[in-house]
Amino acid sequence: SKGAALVTAVAQRLASQKRKVDETLSPFRLSHEQLQLVKARMRAGLEAGLKRKGSTAIKMLPSFVYRTPDGTEHGKYLALDLGGTNFRALLVNFKKGLQQNTRLHHKIYTIPLEIMQGTGEELFDHIAECISDFLDYMGLKNARLPAGFTFSFPCEQTALDTGTLVSWTKGFKATDCEGHDVVSMLREAIKRRNDFDLDIAAVVNDTVGTMMSCAYEDPQCEVGLIAGTGTNVCYMEELKNIEKTEQSTGQKQGDKMRGEKKVGDAEIQKMCINTEWGGLGDDGSLDDIITPYDVEVDQTSINPGKQRFEKLTSGMYLGEVVRQVLLDLTRGGLLFRGHVTEALKTAGIFQTKYLSQIESDRLALLQVRSILQGLGLDSTCNDSIIVKQVCGTVSHRAAQLCGAGMAAVVDKIRENRGLDHLNITVGVDGTLYKLHPHFSRIMHQTVNELAPQCNVNFLLSEDGSGKGAALITAVGCRLRQELNN
Ligand code: BGC
Ligand code: MG
Repeated sequence: SKGAALVTAVAQRLASQKRKVDETLSPFRLSHEQLQLVKARMRAGLEAGLKRKGSTAIKMLPSFVYRTPDGTEHGKYLALDLGGTNFRALLVNFKKGLQQNTRLHHKIYTIPLEIMQGTGEELFDHIAECISDFLDYMGLKNARLPAGFTFSFPCEQTALDTGTLVSWTKGFKATDCEGHDVVSMLREAIKRRNDFDLDIAAVVNDTVGTMMSCAYEDPQCEVGLIAGTGTNVCYMEELKNIEKTEQSTGQKQGDKMRGEKKVGDAEIQKMCINTEWGGLGDDGSLDDIITPYDVEVDQTSINPGKQRFEKLTSGMYLGEVVRQVLLDLTRGGLLFRGHVTEALKTAGIFQTKYLSQIESDRLALLQVRSILQGLGLDSTCNDSIIVKQVCGTVSHRAAQLCGAGMAAVVDKIRENRGLDHLNITVGVDGTLYKLHPHFSRIMHQTVNELAPQCNVNFLLSEDGSGKGAALITAVGCRLRQELNN
């Protein structure tokens, strides 16, 4: 009959549509072999970065953090946190022997886009103004507190309290900062205001702060991971493997490091390395897994060719990859009735929080449609199924890639120690890890599969960038005192 023929035609159309969507998504599905390859390339990148000074895809930046906290840290410290879209000022008060009783006050300040992408002087003046406001608010304007500056971008360090910005990442591109010491820039901005003073004792990557804050509770924590707007890892590396530090920082640094080796009760043998693993692939090593959609995201970003691994795995870019796929499906008539709307052409509409909502299993399709509606996208029921499938595929790949990278890191630590089996804790922070309904589980699973000789425990950091920076400042101030005695 006519009716049956119509039903068959509709069914055939749907089947063909489903096939085409699957075809579009197939390059995002990585085999076990491909993930093994990513792990191997990450490992090779870590090794190359440790050996060579200068531009390697993975920078492997020495942090001058030699040891994890031992619980004796005490006193009041200021932590300053610049990383994503906000600036935060925090006051952290450690009470001796009372790890649970750390007191924390903080205030969040937004950084307007004009300032993120204006001049360096404007950016640091803005930060100094926020600090001034915070000190007023806390009644500490005249205290000259020791401060730690969490600056979540790649910095070449020659000491705990100096860091030259190598290149901006994520959404930042303020002028006249790359190649300059960010601590000096902050000190100068504070001097220009002339209404308060600080003793900036440390500049800290957010991964390092995260690792330290978790190590405060768990001494097995020797890795820090951020899976948020950007992505990065740090870990404790044997000093003897950090060949470039002695070469690059010359005699003076070598003496200083040997001097510090004798400090304290234990001989210092390790230093925390900020890997900057987001740069994996910047030398083309991921080209075989990168899809045309990833290429589009990279090319339309503010740093084309840079942070290729980060662009496959972090919150700032996942929504953009999804959007590129949706655009392609729509142009092919497979979605949104073939209408490419202004909303779909808008960069940045799929923030991590929306991806997380869309992928939540607790949500009915009708709710997915209403989220899309909120973003300005009119969808049919079938459209919403496809959108959810695209989001799921893109975030699944991200989690697997992170897992493959982490497998390389923990296996390296295991081999460093000549162990058949390693138990280790990874301190973690970041919106993707914390908010996304599946990311963390898939990442854990991938690490287990690709590093079977490691038992990796993930510990959520409680305000790593704040508390961690304060701990590093405390350790740094103590080292400084011990060296002077
Ligand atoms: C930066 C890293 C940072 C990471 C997470 C990346 O874009 O290069 O320094 O740790 O984002 O915030
Ligand atoms: Mg942060």
